[in-house]
Amino acid sequence: MKHQARAIVIGGSLAGLWTARVLADHFEQVTVLERDELPTGVTSRAGVPQDKHVHVLLERGAQIMLQLFPGIGQELVAAGANRIDLTENARAKIRGQWLPQFQSNIITYACSRLLLESILRKRVAALPNVELCGGAQVQGLVTNKGTVEGVRVRWKDGRDDGVETAAFIVDASGRSSKLPDWLRDIGYDAPEETVIDVKLGYAGRRYKIPTPAPSWDTMLIGVEPPHQSRAGLIYSEENGIWMVMLAGILADYPPTDEAGFLAFAKDMEPEFHAAIQNAEPVSNIIGYRRTENRMRHYEKLNRWPDGLVALGDAVCGFNPVYGQGMTVSAMAAAELGEMLSKSNGRLTGVAQSFQKKYPKIVEPAWLLATSADLEWLGNEEATSLPERFAGWYMPKVLDAIPNEQIVHKTFVQVQNLIAPSTALFAPKIAWRVMRHSLRSKPVQPLA
Ligand SMILES: Cc1cc2nc3c(=O)[nH]c(=O)nc-3n(C[C@H](O)[C@H](O)[C@H](O)COP(=O)(O)OP(=O)(O)OC[C@H]3O[C@@H](n4cnc5c(N)ncnc54)[C@H](O)[C@@H]3O)c2cc1C
Repeated sequence: MKHQARAIVIGGSLAGLWTARVLADHFEQVTVLERDELPTGVTSRAGVPQDKHVHVLLERGAQIMLQLFPGIGQELVAAGANRIDLTENARAKIRGQWLPQFQSNIITYACSRLLLESILRKRVAALPNVELCGGAQVQGLVTNKGTVEGVRVRWKDGRDDGVETAAFIVDASGRSSKLPDWLRDIGYDAPEETVIDVKLGYAGRRYKIPTPAPSWDTMLIGVEPPHQSRAGLIYSEENGIWMVMLAGILADYPPTDEAGFLAFAKDMEPEFHAAIQNAEPVSNIIGYRRTENRMRHYEKLNRWPDGLVALGDAVCGFNPVYGQGMTVSAMAAAELGEMLSKSNGRLTGVAQSFQKKYPKIVEPAWLLATSADLEWLGNEEATSLPERFAGWYMPKVLDAIPNEQIVHKTFVQVQNLIAPSTALFAPKIAWRVMRHSLRSKPVQPLA
């Protein structure tokens, strides 16, 4: 049953687009308010500074996307995306060892973030009850007796500032969300935050894929704690382009000048460097450093206005090196859709129940990202028992991956959020992990 009402989504990036698509099944009208002017083509936007960097859509995200937008897989491929198997078509080195390549049917549509967002935006804009409004900067909430009734909007086209009313409002405005301030303005508390920051920096550059092209579509070099803090990814995008990403942990930021970029790659892995050294660059090198894991604990607030929901990076942003943010925001939007389906047309309480459930939705991704980062920071920075345990166990899983294919396959399923993290604790996995750990010599940190 559709709610006879309007819903507003703040932010027209990935979380906002997934959410608008889901809400279109439940509301008469859905309005997306985005502060940037919305491009019609494959164009970068100031409001999404990360959109020029490599973006991998995990298998779970791809599955939700295909359900929400039938036929979009073919549309992406027709636009140049590469449908790749993430273990068969990837040459990967983890913990200093090259991994065997095998077919797993864990699939992604490899393309630029710009292409993905532009196709999703076109699909959402074509929905008859969705309106995408660019140049609309939301500045606060309007409430009445504990229920949100609208948002205050500044229009960039010179229209007078005003209020847009709605019965349901979703904040999908990303890491720079002002929701904590907006809540304070209307007499509510701001949330506590958990931050786990491994001080990772990115540098990315696009190259033409050389001919003949290598046998793999993507090359991944992982970090090796405690001494190798550098990682890299070569990723095939549309139009015969490689996106080459370098990353360094603990402020070992990759340089953005040509010589420094190549030297960093060579120091990380000579084979990676050899793949790019004679390839033709087609872009500048761009850096990025706002990469901390950050969770805003809206679920802990005792008072929460009815009709208000927050999701995506606005609630929980991840260290991007694990490629989770787009997929987790799709999972959150899908969960919101399920809760609305079960609400039988009654909105009361849906928003607060969703917000209380949010930590459960993000937990598998949060544990993976933070346990890997805590290996660098020290497990004493863990804020909960599951985090501490994952911080102790996950490095042992990663160490076992190159030698134990079943551990490898299960890890890739968990990493792609298509298997629960408990799959890594199943007896057949746990005993292999522990056997490998007991057989290996402990690695000594460099002095
Ligand atoms: C360098 C980097 C690499 C990444 N790589 C990956 C990856 O490989 N895989 C992956 O899944 N994820 C990746 N991510 C994460 C991914 O970019 C985000 O998780 C994803 O974009 C979803 O974020 P979002 O929509 O919640 O927020 P954002 O993408 O930040 O979008 C927020 C939107 O809200 C708008 N907005 C903000 N304030 C207002 C306002 N007041 N009024 C109106 N509009 C507003 C902004 O203009 C923007 O359009 C990466 C992130 C970074 C930084």
